[in-house]
Amino acid sequence: MLYCGICGSDMHFYKDGEPEFVNLYPFIIGHEGSGEIVAVGDRVTHVQVGDRVAIEPGIPCRVCEWCTSGRYHLCDKMVFLSAPRANGVMREYISHPADLCHKLPDTVSAMEGALIEPLAVGMSAAAKSGIGLGHSAAILGAGCVGLLTMLSLRARGVTDITVVDLFANRLDKANELGATRVINAHGSDPAAEVRSAFRDLGPDYVFETAGSMHAAKQTVPMVKRGGKVVIIGNIVGQIPVDFQLATNKEVDILTNFRYHNVHPLAIGAVASGQIDLRNIVSRVYRFEQTPQAFEDCIEHRDTMVKAMLKIALDA
Ligand SMILES: [Zn+2]
Ligand SMILES: [Zn+2]
Repeated sequence: MLYCGICGSDMHFYKDGEPEFVNLYPFIIGHEGSGEIVAVGDRVTHVQVGDRVAIEPGIPCRVCEWCTSGRYHLCDKMVFLSAPRANGVMREYISHPADLCHKLPDTVSAMEGALIEPLAVGMSAAAKSGIGLGHSAAILGAGCVGLLTMLSLRARGVTDITVVDLFANRLDKANELGATRVINAHGSDPAAEVRSAFRDLGPDYVFETAGSMHAAKQTVPMVKRGGKVVIIGNIVGQIPVDFQLATNKEVDILTNFRYHNVHPLAIGAVASGQIDLRNIVSRVYRFEQTPQAFEDCIEHRDTMVKAMLKIALDA
């Protein structure tokens, strides 16, 4: 392994654990990894020793209804690295199916390679939503996935994007990366504030990336009549949704779970310069600083947007 990003779910495992899986600890977390091939199986031809690759961490069963129909991300036998029972990528070596190791061209760095996984989430949601040239959007949450969703929308020709978050540093980062405007959700009525930014009509699309009940509740009131709400974040708990309002506005509510067949497209978008990942990472930690990196992510959400572990010394 060369680099590994620290994701919200890693922080969740580190900080809160997973009570139903408590007897599985210790296990290795991390699912946003890039690596360098050190050995391949006999029949592997698309990568060779020395190649740098982005790891697609979900290993599908390949035979079920969802796998054979191409929607393998919905496989109910999926083994996802770092989801309990499958060790993740925060380690020096992993053995992984070759077709889930996506070769990085020379123009894509190993650190960018570790961001391909969260980028694939944003690109998948953007593609599934059907958003494109001329549409407007609000993105709730300016964490890694929120920012990468924003870059995905911009690459699809969307120029009117409002980003909402609670942390000023994240909003600064969203501005730096091309948000049209940012709104701090500390205000009294963020949904009304967002609507007013779009001529009091609301945006055509609202993407929930924060994984927050509070943000999710505002999506239907916020979106334009006839618009679309796209849920990407992991929202824990039950949220009352005003379906009468949703129906009256004829809001489409879509969900996006991970990605399928997106990694090669994501690598292509970065290699071609359509998506620039170079300014996403806040701080890089050496592998032995991993506990410090986690503590900083948890304690300093006001300054940390994305932490990255450099696993190989010479990466
Ligand atoms: Zn992640
Ligand atoms: Zn399957």
